[in-house]
Amino acid sequence: MRKNYLLTPGPTPIPPQVAEAQARPIIHHRTPQFQAVLKEVNEGLEFIFQTTGDVFILTSSGTGAMEAAVVNLLSPGDSAICVEGGKFGERWIELCSAYGITPEVIKVEWGKAVDPQEIRSKLQAPSSKLKPKAVFTTLCETSTGVATDIEAIGKIVKETDAVLVVDAISGLGAVDLKTDAWGVDVCVSGSQKGLMLPPGLAFISTSIKAWEKINAAKCPKYYFDLKAAKKALDSTDTPFTPAITLVIALSEALKMMRQDGLENIFKRHKLMADATRAAMIALGLELFAPTAGSDVVTAVKAPAGIDGEKLVKTMRDTYGVTIAGGQAELKGKVFRIAHMGFIEEFDIIVGISCLEKVLRQMGYKFELGAGLKAAQEIFLR
Ligand SMILES: *Cc1c(COP(=O)(O)O)cnc(C)c1O
Repeated sequence: MRKNYLLTPGPTPIPPQVAEAQARPIIHHRTPQFQAVLKEVNEGLEFIFQTTGDVFILTSSGTGAMEAAVVNLLSPGDSAICVEGGKFGERWIELCSAYGITPEVIKVEWGKAVDPQEIRSKLQAPSSKLKPKAVFTTLCETSTGVATDIEAIGKIVKETDAVLVVDAISGLGAVDLKTDAWGVDVCVSGSQKGLMLPPGLAFISTSIKAWEKINAAKCPKYYFDLKAAKKALDSTDTPFTPAITLVIALSEALKMMRQDGLENIFKRHKLMADATRAAMIALGLELFAPTAGSDVVTAVKAPAGIDGEKLVKTMRDTYGVTIAGGQAELKGKVFRIAHMGFIEEFDIIVGISCLEKVLRQMGYKFELGAGLKAAQEIFLR
């Protein structure tokens, strides 16, 4: 027998009531029953996104909403600023390039957060001489564990004609993101991270400023056309068959989140992150993003002589505790412990104790229990 624990930055564990909702008999989507769910879910999403603007549900993984942002806001030949400090920042560049949009790249050292002033400079003096129409950013760069100061960026972008787009696929519903108050024109997210659902749904919010761009955008699109989505939403409908089961499960997740309240959710994530970070430091490990660590995932450098890939594999295949390894250039060099969504203090304790066990087996020198002690002390505060 083996029990499995999931501490990855997507998918994240599913609460029992959300899992149960998916086992119910299917209903048809063009019915008053489903419309009632859709109405509730739309209100719940506005609450989570902290917006009064429309939030659309797309049937895709999170990247579908990223693609929707690009094709609905821009036209081929436009230019857009892309902040690249990791694997997911890179995705904005790839998406822009795929649709003939010139990416104005702000390269950020992996493990560091972008300086908002760099965005101001790039908006004022773009290298292509085309005025950038959008600024693409990432709330939590999941590949490096870095959190971005979206509030500060919002103040800068607000003063220009450009729209601010935030990839909040990891982070929404876990750390604070005030879509309206911070001037986020388009916020995209996905179901399998902070929202505690399986993968399969993507979300995209839209401001009034975003709609000015959407109405003028000429990129080719069909499935992700937000004008069609808007027409359907106005009559509490969807343009195509929605992922009915996932939407019903979402209504359960949103109920839980509304019961908790945003402040408590953010506090819980910070506590899990604080405990994880303290444990890593107590074990003599080095955080990959010591100055800009996010509260949803902690990236840790594999210590000298320890193969990060092997560490992750042993934890998963021998003990059933799944954390994430490093991506791209960080493969084998970091491991990542997620503390996002349906995660509580004893999940973190399990993760740390398994990490200690495997580090010890691999020959890393430290005082056994030091990480657990540091985490417990944070939880006891
Ligand atoms: C997970 C993630 C994505 C990708 O989402 P998919 O659901 O795999 O398409 C994009 N950006 C960030 C920051 C993520 O964490």
